[in-house]
Amino acid sequence: MKLPDFLASIKNEILSHFVTEKIMYKIEGKCNKCGKCCNYMYSFDTYTEKEFKFMQFLFPAYKRFYIKGKDDMGNLIFACKYVTPEGLCSVYDKRLKMCKNYPAKYITYDADLHEGCGYHIVKKTFDDYMKESDKVS
Ligand code: SF4
Ligand code: SF4
Repeated sequence: MKLPDFLASIKNEILSHFVTEKIMYKIEGKCNKCGKCCNYMYSFDTYTEKEFKFMQFLFPAYKRFYIKGKDDMGNLIFACKYVTPEGLCSVYDKRLKMCKNYPAKYITYDADLHEGCGYHIVKKTFDDYMKESDKVS
């Protein structure tokens, strides 16, 4: 990623916290320890190997990740070298904060989870919002 794009993404991230209302997607369920999230990861803002190396330079903790391949659209797929063949974390007590928080309880953008993941996303529809506003009024 070029520096101006990088700075723009930081600016947008900061500004997003001032949006008065966001659409929320709630995540419910429980981990069934399949290990897919440690074996197949995407990054929002890492599109090339060079960007990945730069990211690892900025955040040395990301050196645990490696490029596993690309999907049909050409997006990079990452994996962690600490996941065991059984799909468990071999450094569980020292896993990253992002690992501890995954999946977030709420997200503010449309997303998907791995097929077979024990969690699921509860999406609020337009009708749900209308029903809530009916209750308030
Ligand atoms: S993909 Fe879902 S069920 Fe599988 S290890 Fe990750 S959080 Fe758990
Ligand atoms: S540190 Fe552990 S929990 Fe985090 S991605 Fe690697 S194997 Fe998964």
